[in-house]
Amino acid sequence: MKAAPAEQLRLLEFQALDTRLDQLAHARASLPELATLTTLGQDSAALDRELALARTAQRDVQREVTKAEMDVQQVRDRAERNQKRLDVGTGTAKDLQALQHELISLARRQGELEDIELEVMERAEELDSQVAALDSRRSALDAEIADVTARRDEAFARFDAERETVLASRGEVAPQIGEALMTLYAKVRESSGGIGAAELKQRRCGGCRLELNSLDLSSIRSAAADDVVRCEECRRILIRTAESGL
Ligand SMILES: [Zn+2]
Repeated sequence: MKAAPAEQLRLLEFQALDTRLDQLAHARASLPELATLTTLGQDSAALDRELALARTAQRDVQREVTKAEMDVQQVRDRAERNQKRLDVGTGTAKDLQALQHELISLARRQGELEDIELEVMERAEELDSQVAALDSRRSALDAEIADVTARRDEAFARFDAERETVLASRGEVAPQIGEALMTLYAKVRESSGGIGAAELKQRRCGGCRLELNSLDLSSIRSAAADDVVRCEECRRILIRTAESGL
């Protein structure tokens, strides 16, 4: 295949732009913030589950508190009524004695119910502080997610802006390369890990990094300037420059 030396040099430029596009795409896809956001998303879901459980337990224990308070109040009211009747002193001696007995058992019952109330209130306090701690973790996590998201978006914007610039340059260089050379380049690039054209520099192929043997070198030396030469090792298009060492 034939292509003017200037056209071949344009291809080298084109390759550099394609390589930059590949690097940008890779950098965009492997941005550390993306992995961080995945982890934070998992933490966030786990925290939400924990919060939901804690809030349910908090509501349940709150109901227990209300019930325990009512139980204590009921016994207190009854004891108060009995005490009033005793103070008034009406009724038979037997009635008054029964009231006194009941007062004693009500006092005991009140003590037991107050112990239960206290225990339930302690649990309620524990759950309140547990929910508060989870709420503050939720806020901290939200702030962290917002922060990492902002950094990701900044990086994306940087990559995308550079991509636009590179695409514009690529659009300028492309028309300076003939269709045949471009087709060959695209084919080799596809099968050679993104590098279709490489500079021959100091007798070394810029694609496979191997130094050319003297036989291949002399064949390249004898080739015309507009011959499109290929690396015998990796089959990439070799572009000769002033630094090729020929
Ligand atoms: Zn090579």
